[in-house]
Amino acid sequence: MLAVRTHAAGEPLRVEDVPRPEPSGTEVRVRVAGCGVCHTDLHLARTDRLRISRPVTLGHEIGGTIDAWGDEATGPLRRARLKAGDRILVFGGWGCGACRECAAGEEQRCERGESPGFQRDGGYAEHVLVPHPRHLVGIGPLPADQAPPLADAGVTPYRAVSRAAPWLTPGARVLLMGLGGLGQFAIQYLRRLPALTIAVRELNPDKLALAAELGADLGVLDGDEELAHIGLGGPADVVFDFVGSDATLDYAARNVAPGGLVSLVGEAGGSFRFGFDRLPVEASLSTTAWGSIADLRAVVRLARRGRLAWEVERMPLADAQAAHDRLAAGGVRGRLVLVPPGAQAGS
Ligand SMILES: [Zn+2]
Ligand SMILES: [Zn+2]
Repeated sequence: MLAVRTHAAGEPLRVEDVPRPEPSGTEVRVRVAGCGVCHTDLHLARTDRLRISRPVTLGHEIGGTIDAWGDEATGPLRRARLKAGDRILVFGGWGCGACRECAAGEEQRCERGESPGFQRDGGYAEHVLVPHPRHLVGIGPLPADQAPPLADAGVTPYRAVSRAAPWLTPGARVLLMGLGGLGQFAIQYLRRLPALTIAVRELNPDKLALAAELGADLGVLDGDEELAHIGLGGPADVVFDFVGSDATLDYAARNVAPGGLVSLVGEAGGSFRFGFDRLPVEASLSTTAWGSIADLRAVVRLARRGRLAWEVERMPLADAQAAHDRLAAGGVRGRLVLVPPGAQAGS
């Protein structure tokens, strides 16, 4: 089968013919309908800053259909009311299943966890092997080549916004940095909460127009240093950093309110020196990576009810490097989804 793999940091992606994986035990093989291209994939391909086991097939936003499974998956699939051919999303936080975090339904926090496209082969391929049926979320009638962004771009900001709930009370000021795939979902979750003022900071003026369409109150172009403060009426109660560079973290620290929250989501690999002289008093810092499986189910429910809007642009799987180059250049409005050969549009 066709797979797009990374062998060394900074090398172009390789389009390869690899054996189709055969499921055994509790494993389920998914026929990939589409796999989203995330900014994190660019960082994974270019650097060794994130935890990755090379060579590996990239791709962690996976939509597809249930194709085959090992003997021990039969029972769990039946209990989950899933069968061959059902449309599913793959939940990407594959925990050990035994530790305290996993027992609490927070497998994405598992210290021994692995993820497709990081330590295990991911969805830039015709098929992907999922270790257990519990990582599959049925999506009903949603097209499996439209739904993939929900599996990361949808669920990660859902989690970040949920965890920021104590700060997101009526009248709160919110600054959101970076309107890529995740930021676009974040605005929609924020707009479901009453009486927030939301500013978006971006490098790209086109993205600010999109921010206004999605309901942001104010757009701030990179460089307009004072505008966020002025437009929001003061420092932000919550800063969501969907970029995560040294520069955006520094900006976040300078624009958060005393007692506020800086929520780091973007994995650009930036860091920040923490101390009394660096943040307003009692401000909090937190990271978010993925959400729980329950979060993903909640996002799928919202999508099935038509409460979420997101754009997908399909590209052939073999053009993965071109997709990365386009995303790096900043000209992508929605989410690029790589479609393997033979997958039907809208399937
Ligand atoms: Zn991602
Ligand atoms: Zn675990």
